[in-house]
Amino acid sequence: VYPVDFEDFLDFVAKEEETKEFLDRLRKLAKKRGEFLYFAGGVVRDYLLFKKGKLNPQSSKDFDIVLEGNLEKFLQELNEDLNKEILFKSQFLTYKVRFFLDGEPLEVDFITARREVYEEIAQLPKVFPSNFMDDLLRRDFTINALAIGLSAPYEGLLLDLLDGLKDLEASLVKPLHLNSFVEDPTRIFRGIRYKVRLGFDFSEEFYQALEVCYQKEALKKLSSARLANELKLYLFKEGEEILLKLLETTYQLEVFKEAGLEVARENFPLLCEVLKEVKEEFSPKEREKVYFLGMVESLSGLERLGFSEVEITRIESLLNNFRGFYHKINTLSLKEKLEWFDKVRREYLCAFAVIFPELKEEIFRYLKVYSKVRPELNGEDLKKLGFRSGKEIGEILKILRLKRLEGKVKTKEDEIEFLKKFLVKNE
Ligand code: ATP
Repeated sequence: VYPVDFEDFLDFVAKEEETKEFLDRLRKLAKKRGEFLYFAGGVVRDYLLFKKGKLNPQSSKDFDIVLEGNLEKFLQELNEDLNKEILFKSQFLTYKVRFFLDGEPLEVDFITARREVYEEIAQLPKVFPSNFMDDLLRRDFTINALAIGLSAPYEGLLLDLLDGLKDLEASLVKPLHLNSFVEDPTRIFRGIRYKVRLGFDFSEEFYQALEVCYQKEALKKLSSARLANELKLYLFKEGEEILLKLLETTYQLEVFKEAGLEVARENFPLLCEVLKEVKEEFSPKEREKVYFLGMVESLSGLERLGFSEVEITRIESLLNNFRGFYHKINTLSLKEKLEWFDKVRREYLCAFAVIFPELKEEIFRYLKVYSKVRPELNGEDLKKLGFRSGKEIGEILKILRLKRLEGKVKTKEDEIEFLKKFLVKNE
């Protein structure tokens, strides 16, 4: 147990004065109820790294607060004088709560100090309310098993039961015990994220725990949903900038193989580049499709990532068509190419840019230029000009787009002129 500069820590956690007042309220309530409230995990780790100048303050974000006590009653009592809304209550005795402090919303994760019992390999644990010691002992890595007390009896004190501080100093990601990844193989992916994000190394024990996990084939038993979720965190929590390192590290540790997921390592650099290029424009769901499709060695891998059979079949037939297209692309006119591209959803096209690197330029020209060109005349204008609705209008709009891309029409007037001639020709 070490003292910390408590004011400084609270400044790091709570940027706003209201948030600090809010924490003070929590502290007083814990005191009144005789329950111990503390911070643990990311916020403590990041604060200590920040103090060492190894992390900038922006890196700190929302915080988790742990209560050694009855969280439900604690939150009920808190409700009496605070405007709040419980957003989510999990099976693990945790609550996500949104408070309205002077109208400003603040989201806080409240966690019950708990003990975890893992009965089956790679399955979620049973949890039991317990004390802070058990709560720190159930965690993933020593650097995440540090706590700072917000209320008595450890107010303003750093609790370091497992030498987390030492590992933080040494920049090491170290599991708490050698069975850690058998209990919960998602910790491997978490460990990779910390290593890459913080620029740390794996400790000897990390490799040993990995070995034990491989021997027991625990990664194979991890559900598709949990595996996919961990891989999604690489992209959505860590981001494109370090994605390549994350994927490479995962590959080198043979984690993909052990998880029963065959990946196309040679695709990784282009995959990351493509994901960077579409970051602003694509929705998360679209980026996820590009990511997973570009990552797998063959489509059967998508099953391991939780894709439905129907979707896999659809992608397979698209891919087969695309192969035919790919071989004759140089003989096709712009019109024919557009016809092909128009049929494929943009997230699949993007993944095809990774699978067929020779086509990347062509596909990106389509995504960034061709698909953005629109005629000035719209459907309504065409109706006024006497075209029947639906399919016909769609076809005419495509023709007008092609003429624009070919540079044959430039203005709305050109489009009308073109259509007049077109109609005469087709009458
Ligand atoms: P960051 O958000 O910066 O990635 P964090 O440490 O806050 O880091 P969370 O996923 O919010 O990460 O988890 C909070 C804490 O809960 C962790 O620091 C860790 O102590 C514990 N934890 C989370 N997931 C696990 C797990 N699978 N096994 C054991 N402990 C875990």
